[in-house]
Amino acid sequence: MIADQVVEEPCEVKISSTVLKTSRRGDRPAEFISLHPTKRRINFTDKKEIGELKLMGKWDIHTYPVKSIKRVRIVRRADGFFVQFCIDVECKQEVQSTGQEIGLDFGLEHFYTDSNGYHEPNPRFLRKAQKQIKHAQRRIYKKQKGTNGRKKARNRYARKHLKISRQRTEHAKSRARHVMRSNDLCVYENLQVRNMVRNHHLAKSINDAGWRQFRSYLEYFANKCGKVALAVEPHYTSQECPRCGMMVKKSLSTRTHTCKCGCVLQRDYAAAINILRKGKEKIATSGHGGSKTSKQKSRNARGVETSVQSGAILIE
Ligand SMILES: [Zn+2]
Repeated sequence: MIADQVVEEPCEVKISSTVLKTSRRGDRPAEFISLHPTKRRINFTDKKEIGELKLMGKWDIHTYPVKSIKRVRIVRRADGFFVQFCIDVECKQEVQSTGQEIGLDFGLEHFYTDSNGYHEPNPRFLRKAQKQIKHAQRRIYKKQKGTNGRKKARNRYARKHLKISRQRTEHAKSRARHVMRSNDLCVYENLQVRNMVRNHHLAKSINDAGWRQFRSYLEYFANKCGKVALAVEPHYTSQECPRCGMMVKKSLSTRTHTCKCGCVLQRDYAAAINILRKGKEKIATSGHGGSKTSKQKSRNARGVETSVQSGAILIE
C-alpha cells in the first residue's frame, strides 16, 4: 500500500558484519544498495565503505521484487547487525467476512477479555524471565569496569531483554492477526498507556502486557484484511451495567459487576460488552470508517446487539 509501512513479517535480516560504526548505520534510499542476483548478498554503494555483506539466516526478502524495496536501514541489536528493508507492497489480503463483532477490554489480570467472555491469558514474558535477568544483571557488576568480561556480561543481559521484546512482538502479532481474521469489527479502549505507566504499582505489569503494540497490530491487520478496528474513549466502560445501563461504582479491586437488575458478570467481561456497544454507537452516529464494511456492520449490529447478548448472559 504505502511505502514505509510495516510489512507483516518485517524484513529484518542479519548481516555478516560484526562491527559497523554508527556513521555507517541508519537509513538510506534503496539506490544505495544492490542485491546480488541470488539475494544472498547485499552491496552498499554509498560512500561509507561498507561494501558487500552476506545476508544471514532465515529471510523472506527473496519473495519481494527488488523494485519494491524503497529504503534500507542498518540497525544494531544486542545479537548483531541487521538490515531492515522497507517494502512497498500491496499488503491487502482477502479475508472472508465472518459477521462477528468483538469488544476487547485490556486488563492486567488477562491480556484481554472479549465481549464473548473469553479471557486471553497474559503471557508475562518479563516476569517469567525475571530471575534470569536479575542474575545476568548482577553478573555485570561483578566484572571490573572497562574489561572485556564486563562487556560480554552486558551483552548477555541485553540479549535477554531482546528475547523478551521479540517474544512480545510475536505474541501481539499472532493475537491481533487471530482477532482481526475472525471478526469484522473489533472495538477496544483508547487507553493512554503512558499515563498509566506512571502509576508505579501497575507500571511493570502494564509494560509487560504490551498493549500499545497489540493495538497497532490490530490496526495493521484490520487494514490488511479489510476489517474495522475502532478505539473508543474508556470512560465508564467498567462502571456501566451492560444490561440496564445503570452506573455501578466499583473500585479497581472489585472483580465482579453486580447490578440491581440482576446482572452479574465478571468485571472485564462486562466492560468488553460496553466497549463493543460504544463502538457500534460511534459507527452508527458518525459513520466512522466510512468504508462499506463498517456501514454494513453497524446495521446488523443494531439488530443483534444488546438484546441477544445480554439475554445470553442471563442464562449463565
Ligand atoms: Zn443492570
